[in-house]
Amino acid sequence: MSQNKLSSYLLHFLFPKTCVHCRRDLVIQEENPLCPDCLRQLEPLTADLTCQRCGIPLPSGGAHCHLCRNNKFQCQVIRSAFLFNPPLQSLIHELKYQERKSLVQPMGIWLREAFKKYPEIHGAQVLVPVPLYPERERRRGFNQSQLLAEELVKSSRAFVIPLLKRIRATSPQVDLPKSQRLENVKEAFQAAETEKIRGKEILLVDDVCTTGATLEECAKTLKKAGAKKVCAFTLARQAQ
Ligand SMILES: [Zn+2]
Ligand SMILES: [Zn+2]
Repeated sequence: MSQNKLSSYLLHFLFPKTCVHCRRDLVIQEENPLCPDCLRQLEPLTADLTCQRCGIPLPSGGAHCHLCRNNKFQCQVIRSAFLFNPPLQSLIHELKYQERKSLVQPMGIWLREAFKKYPEIHGAQVLVPVPLYPERERRRGFNQSQLLAEELVKSSRAFVIPLLKRIRATSPQVDLPKSQRLENVKEAFQAAETEKIRGKEILLVDDVCTTGATLEECAKTLKKAGAKKVCAFTLARQAQ
């Protein structure tokens, strides 16, 4: 047995790896953070069963959800890799609140794979992560959206540039009733380096899209600063 293999066996014996969702022990060779059962529960989204504008799942079909049929938005298209279901919630929770940064690697593989399905968002020259409030980012040590954007960019010729700043601390959108989400993020962002925004096609990147209010506010800020087109891509999409 090689030295490397031996130390990985020892490590596994001392600190057994468990599934991030169901906490069952994982087999020693398992590279995924989820056990095979939980992995199978992930629900990939596709453009044909979601709203063509905001990407919300439309189980009974149709091109647009009610909201997008009746309103104009600055964020032209929102696409996501998966439905925000329990195993994915556990993964994202572990990344953000247990600060398990290594989880962005498998997430990156899934993101790049899902991205291929959506040619409508392939035109961006710049990827902009949805920013955290600086105080929160300092405490966590990283911005998960920035890490995800850096993973995603590995398969494209675009650049990740943090062109937005969060100028107001906001409550996590997931914790708020729908009626308060728009108000919560209103004027929460500011554009930086407007010369890099002007005339560009931009893809916003975030971990979860709840109602799309945060992405819309970010898009509004970027458009005001001169962006030509803004779309968004997230790892997870909450069903309504
Ligand atoms: Zn599991
Ligand atoms: Zn929609």
